[in-house]
Amino acid sequence: MAKIFCVANQKGGVGKTTTAVNLAAGLAQLDQRVLLVDLDPQGNATMGAGINKSELTASVYEVLLGLSDIQTARKHSETGKFDVLPANRELAGAEVEMVELENREKRLKDAIALVDADYDFVLIDCPPALSMLTLNGLCAAHGVIIPMQCEYYALEGLSDLVNTIKKVHAKLNTDLKIIGLLRVMFDPRMTLSQQVSAQLEQHFGDKVFKTIIPRNVRLAEAPSYGMPGVSFDPASKGAQAYIAFGAEMVQRIKSL
Ligand code: ATP
Ligand code: MG
Repeated sequence: MAKIFCVANQKGGVGKTTTAVNLAAGLAQLDQRVLLVDLDPQGNATMGAGINKSELTASVYEVLLGLSDIQTARKHSETGKFDVLPANRELAGAEVEMVELENREKRLKDAIALVDADYDFVLIDCPPALSMLTLNGLCAAHGVIIPMQCEYYALEGLSDLVNTIKKVHAKLNTDLKIIGLLRVMFDPRMTLSQQVSAQLEQHFGDKVFKTIIPRNVRLAEAPSYGMPGVSFDPASKGAQAYIAFGAEMVQRIKSL
């Protein structure tokens, strides 16, 4: 059975997609079979995996609405060596269109169940909102990975996310837990980064991943080549950190 994780934070631009794509590629390098689900109409994870979002015949949108099956819609990322359930802007309509459907929070869960046996990990890249799409991600997952920048406003909004996760846990998905907080875009030269990082460790203990992802320009350049940073420049500090994070996740799931 695959372990299913959402990469979520309703704050925009905190490194969700970079984390989802590079963790997928890092796990693939560790011989794990991975499906990356792009649950964001921006389609950044799709493009970052080297799949052209404007040439899709089927996407996660059709899967959620029951217009295509997941086996048909999934693609393979040649640059990342993992499968992708891709997304494009069509997905923005799904929020409204799903309102009429039965069991609307569990459409993604039901779809993933059909291919579960093909993977060790399913990673879901959530949009920057606590929306019906994110809810579908949370209902499908065993756990949540929360990327955070170590800056003054990082903790603001975290309680909204934690409360949403608690509600979903209570009402819709008793499996769901927070797997951990991942410190990303970390700049060790900034005193503030060090302070916030220490605060996170104090408050959240072993819910803070050991691996820290540094700010690294190669990670930011990679998507324009349709490649995960891990494949684009494997020797870079950013790539090395995501490979280490992959290894940490493989260890973590043993105790889940
Ligand atoms: P959104 O909320 O819009 O979906 P996001 O949370 O998915 O955003 P990303 O798209 O992963 O965030 O990252 C935001 C920007 O920061 C991107 O330009 C990305 O390339 C850059 N970035 C992410 N992580 C790093 C890093 N470790 N070092 C340098 N740049 C990074
Ligand atoms: Mg994103």
